[in-house]
Parts: sequence; C-alpha cells; structure tokens
Amino acid sequence: MNSLIPQYTINMLYLALCVAVYAPVFGQSPPHLHYNITYQEGQDKIRIRVDFKPRSNTDIHFVIPRSAPGTYELTNYIAFVDSVKASTPNNTFIDGVLGEGSFFTFPAEDTMEIRSIQYIVDIATMERTLLSASSSSKRRQEYLGLLGYSVFGLVQGMEEEQVQLSIESDRETLIYSTLYPDIPQPTTKKYYKAKNFGVLVDAQYFMGNAVRIHQIQNAPIPLFLSVYAETYVNIEELSRRINRSLVGLKDYFGYIPMPHYTACYEYLIPVSPRHDYGFSMEHLNSMTASFDTSKAVARVDTGANIGSIVHHIGHSWIPLRSYGQGYRSFDWQTAPIIETIWLNEGFTWYIAYYHVLNKKEILTFFREIIDKAPDYINRKSLRELSRLGSTQYAMDFRIGKNLFARGALMAHDIEEYIRSKSRDQKSFRDVMLGLLRWTELHQRAFQYNEIPHIISQSTGIDISEVWNHWQQPPIFHK
Ligand SMILES: [Zn+2]
Repeated sequence: MNSLIPQYTINMLYLALCVAVYAPVFGQSPPHLHYNITYQEGQDKIRIRVDFKPRSNTDIHFVIPRSAPGTYELTNYIAFVDSVKASTPNNTFIDGVLGEGSFFTFPAEDTMEIRSIQYIVDIATMERTLLSASSSSKRRQEYLGLLGYSVFGLVQGMEEEQVQLSIESDRETLIYSTLYPDIPQPTTKKYYKAKNFGVLVDAQYFMGNAVRIHQIQNAPIPLFLSVYAETYVNIEELSRRINRSLVGLKDYFGYIPMPHYTACYEYLIPVSPRHDYGFSMEHLNSMTASFDTSKAVARVDTGANIGSIVHHIGHSWIPLRSYGQGYRSFDWQTAPIIETIWLNEGFTWYIAYYHVLNKKEILTFFREIIDKAPDYINRKSLRELSRLGSTQYAMDFRIGKNLFARGALMAHDIEEYIRSKSRDQKSFRDVMLGLLRWTELHQRAFQYNEIPHIISQSTGIDISEVWNHWQQPPIFHK
C-alpha cells in the first residue's frame, strides 16, 4: 500500500528530529524515576514496577489517578489495582495500605528506606466494570491497549521528575507508544522517556501482534494511525480522513504545535449492551477513539462527516496548549473543578465545524441544544454549569452538550462582534491565537476573569458586552 522508500526517508528524518528534541530534556544525568510494565500474552493483568531514589516509607503517598485533564469524570481506577508492595534496598517488602482517598501508604514498625513500588492492574476487570469504553484500557487476544492514566500511579512529590519507561513482553511482539511513534518491529522490550508524570500518563501504549500501525503519507508532520479492529477497516480511507482533518486545522491556525501525532482507533465487539462506545478522548499528541464495530470506516466516502476527528485533533491546540485553572497542573487524586469546559469544548466545536469544515448550519444545532435543555441546566450560569460538568460531562451528556453549545455560540457572537468593529480585519482566529500566545508567554493556566481581557487584547476590541451576556443563564437571555 505505502511505498517503502518515502516511508523510510520520512522515518529517518523523524528519528533525527526526535533525538534532537529528547536529548536536551534529559541532559547528562539519567532519570531518577523508572517505570516498568511487564505483560504476558494471554493474561488479564499487567505488572507495573516503579523505581526511584530511596526515600523514607513515612513520606510516601502512592496515588492512583482518579481522573485526567479533559475526561471531566471521576473514575475509580484504584479498584483495579492489587498486590501493591514497596521494597527496600535490602529487598524487604512492605504491603501497601489503602488510604482514605485514591492512594496507598507503606507503614512499618521501623522507619525504612523505600526504593521501589510494584503492583498489578487488572485490565479485563477494568473494561468489564467501566461502561464508558473511552475511559478504559483494553485486553484482547494479541492486543493490549493502555491509557496511561488508567494504569500508572504517582509517587506524590515526583510529579515533575523526568521519567524513563520500559515495556516488556514474555515474547517477541509489537510495542508502540504515542510518546515516540515508529513502525514497530517485533521485540521483547522497548524504552521510552517522558518529560514528567503528566506526559507519561497522557500517552497511550499498545502491545501485541494484532495492533496495526501505519504512518500516513503526505502529512505535514509525522502522522501515525494505530488500529485494533474486530471487523474490517479501510485503513487508507481512515488515514485520508485523519490527514484531511489535520491539514484543515493547520490551514486555520497557520501552524501545527505537535511534533508528531497518533490517531488511536479501536473498533470493538461490545462487551455488553450497557457499554458505551460513543466518546473519544484527546491527548497532547494523540487521540483515542473506541467505537463499536458498526462504526468502522469501511468504504471511501469523501463526504463523510469528519467533525469528530477535526474536533479531537483540534484539542491539541486548545485546551492542551492553552487552558484555564484546574486543567493543568492537575490534581490527580480527584476530578478537579474546572470552570472553562465551555471554552475547551465550545471554541473547538466552533472552529472545527464552522470554519475548518465550513458547516455554517451547525449554529442551529447548538441553539436547539440550549432550547431543549432541562431547567436545571438552563438555570445555571456558564461558570456553575462548568463546575457541574467537571465530573459529569459525559455521564449526563445534556450537561456536556449544553457546555459546548454555549461556548460555541459565544465564540460566534464574539466573532460577529469583532468582525463588525474591526471591519473584518480581525476574526475568531485572532482570539484562538491570542489565547495560545498568552499561554506560551505566561506558562500557566489563565484565571476565569482573565479570559475577556486576553480576548480583548488579542483583537484590540473590548468584547466585555458579549462576555457579560454569556455569563447569564440562558433563561435570562433576551
Ligand atoms: Zn472535546
């Protein structure tokens, strides 16, 4: 399907680039934090070991994430973690004791130095228990698909430490990570590096000979597709849709901030009729889509709706590289209150459909969502609804839809306002670029009340009138 020569050339260029990118991150000294995943083909469970510079057992809280940026849900991943043990440099083991929240401690009669923690994660039980397919890792014959935040624990206080990761199998198999995309060859062990815990858990990891990895040709950056499917998938057509989405976003923003990108697709026979396969999830340099087999892309359709792909890749600009408080830095032990979900979702919906795909009729869809929403939603201000959505965005999708609909309609009102005031010299693109530039400059999350100023400054037009209108609950809109 793909000719070998250009593929090889692109891979070599990409390899050279990655070495250049990763080298300064780690400098001369090796990371003090090492994670290891071990998997035996056919098993339901994976084994994880975390090694670090020895520290006192009394200082250690080992946290299992309960959420991740952009999931807007609370997920009890600790329920699938078992056999947690810490070990001393003399190989004395201390059993982990479950804390009052999502963490383990390691009490002992005497104070001891601990240098590693090991535990087991039951992937099969996780998938059976979590009804939302996009929240769970998966295991099948010849396939293991891991979402970082569903399996990796955090030694509290080591959030910013550089991480080395090794992934091991009991036999030769394909190993792939969105941290460092490549066309994998069968092997028993592979190493990766991550800048910190947030980057480690944001990535996805695949093992097994049933995963198919493709590098998409003629893409503006190294662009990969990972597929595990229990039905036929037209890889070329899916690749075309992904590349078209990325190119559309590049044309809108004028640049691509991701060094590389992987679209991760699963087409699965449902575990049960109650399992939900509708949602996808965005990451820094990848997206995860877990669909049931009926949604598999089987035939060429140049008119297919690719809005969801544009939307999820679009998140790599906002919110992944420009965000409000709570999104980053992230409180891994809980699902933090986030007041800007309407911006993350609504602004991305707006540019994906209204601009990149030029579907102006999408505004009617947004208006209908608000018109049909129940009172308990429409009585809430934008900020209140976003707080509610921090844990229930998809669980009650009327909340999620209302958030993105309000955000998208606000985006449109802002665009109309600044276009009319600037006689079409400024557009919503200036707003998006202004937010991205602001984060680049300040290297922090913006506060809620800073948003109208950032937007006004980036366009030179005071948008407070539109901003104030959208702070009101819809039932008060005139
Ligand atoms: Zn989204």
